[in-house]
Amino acid sequence: LEGDRTEWSLTLGDIFIAVKTTKRFHQSRMELLLDTWISQAREQTYVFTDEEDDALKRRIGDHAIFTNCSAEHSHPALSCKMAAEFDAFLASGRSWFCHLDDDNYLNPQALLKLLSSYSAMWDVYLGKPSLNRPIRASEMLPNNKTKSVHFWFATGGAGFCISRKLASKMVPWASGKNFLSTSELIRLPDDCTVGYIIECKVGGQLLPNALFHSHLENLQLIPPSQITQQVTLSYGVFENKLNVIELSGPFSPQEDPSRFRSLHCHLYPDTSWCLQAVGW
Ligand code: UDP
Ligand code: MN
Repeated sequence: LEGDRTEWSLTLGDIFIAVKTTKRFHQSRMELLLDTWISQAREQTYVFTDEEDDALKRRIGDHAIFTNCSAEHSHPALSCKMAAEFDAFLASGRSWFCHLDDDNYLNPQALLKLLSSYSAMWDVYLGKPSLNRPIRASEMLPNNKTKSVHFWFATGGAGFCISRKLASKMVPWASGKNFLSTSELIRLPDDCTVGYIIECKVGGQLLPNALFHSHLENLQLIPPSQITQQVTLSYGVFENKLNVIELSGPFSPQEDPSRFRSLHCHLYPDTSWCLQAVGW
């Protein structure tokens, strides 16, 4: 179409969506995601956790991936999960890898629209920059010396996506046991390690995108009229206050503290439990 952007006719089936979770959040966080956005992206969503859980297995079968990673909030435990996500993506053959936390709402159609304006045959790394400047770190060198490095990275808590072309270049630092050894070189969390590999090892760069959101920003600032166009949203605590998106209903803040059920009803009003909520 003249004057239109080039479309690559991407479908959801081209995307591999990895959700990182841990045993103690299976009920409190994963049930909410399974009831809402994951129901719209079942076929491409895989949940990476640390302990066997029959309830989770009953809901998503072999899309629940029980890694042998420890259930700790330590850098090695989280890097272990990121490596498992990355390896599963490589094996899947899909075109795009998107990582999410278990407190993210993903809008699959908004994601599809965004990724459609890029090609998975280019080096693409999309997400929300964690800081407003590159992070500085010391890279350990083999001779016990250190080197100062700086790079941008996408905050894992807002979700990020990587094209297959870029992911394939990351393999020597990111696949299997390599991810853990790379993260040890800079002693920073998993999402920083991803940015480090892309910007310092592979020569790629983060494309900042304003459609990704974590609970480390004030979510009340997103205008209600623009909420349904965002790619990711979140909920949580920020500066000691509950930080959620602003949406009037159909559920009350008591029934739906995260606001994810209400958001889901705005996006998919035909959902059975949405119709009940508005008394139809
Ligand atoms: N997480 C994990 N293992 C842990 C703690 C957290 O895999 O021991 C995951 C959690 O499920 C979530 C992400 O790490 O997907 C971030 O955790 P959380 O939202 O609790 O912390 P934040 O860093 O956002 O404050
Ligand atoms: Mn969080």
